[in-house]
Amino acid sequence: MPQVSPHVYQCHIPDKHYMHPGGTNIFFIGDPKKTMLILDTGEHDRSWTKQILDYWKDELGSPKISSILISHGHGDHTGGVDRIQEATGATVRCHPKLVKELRRVLSDDDKVVPLKSGEMLRLGDDVALRAIFTPGHAVDHVCYNLSKERVLFTGDTILGASSSSVMDLKDYMKTLEKLAKLRVDTICPAHGPVVPSPKGPVLAKSYIDHRNMREKQVLETLENGIDSIESIRKTVYPKNLKKDLRKPAERNIKTHLDKLIKDKIVEEVEITYKLVN
Ligand SMILES: [Zn+2]
Repeated sequence: MPQVSPHVYQCHIPDKHYMHPGGTNIFFIGDPKKTMLILDTGEHDRSWTKQILDYWKDELGSPKISSILISHGHGDHTGGVDRIQEATGATVRCHPKLVKELRRVLSDDDKVVPLKSGEMLRLGDDVALRAIFTPGHAVDHVCYNLSKERVLFTGDTILGASSSSVMDLKDYMKTLEKLAKLRVDTICPAHGPVVPSPKGPVLAKSYIDHRNMREKQVLETLENGIDSIESIRKTVYPKNLKKDLRKPAERNIKTHLDKLIKDKIVEEVEITYKLVN
């Protein structure tokens, strides 16, 4: 029963089929002798739900669950929400943009309650968890800060063992800046290992530095007249980049270019034509 801090317990699912780097984490927050919160519900797979519910029963002794918190709407975080809600009777709390979708899954409208930005979730006198809206990886992403224990639950915004995929880099950078200001010792990501002090506090900052470095590289290639995503990838990434990593790398460059367009630093120009066949 890995315990991260006085009120944080980690249920680790070493998933081989879904290719999440370093597996997936479901967190139980609170006092097992009193009431707890669950953060995220894993893939839709029945075996996943079973692992989560077994952990709740066998490791923690089936404490009352007051709320199921959702980090964001991707399937590996919301897949088991219907079964886990049914088993625990808890209220599901999520970003307002995700409410409609989860209400469809749960059928009982009252059981899904939108979070407010900055809302404080309390369990007795012991636990106060702040919901921080953190768009970037997904538009409905929420991180949770247990400031008393200096633990930050980062969902897919900051991962334990790899960099995160990003939908909107401009939003994502703002989110990282916001997270970097928090006084945190331990990062609890949705995938990969928990990152303890002293690496935890510097992780958000290192994500920012990495993205800024990549943006600088992309701008340099454009200055040198390299203008297609593929050729930018060939310049910025290692020459011998494995085939299956090329597409993700190009998607990442596209994310950077989209941000630079929003920043009005870059514009998209269509200048090439070809015959249909
Ligand atoms: Zn995700």
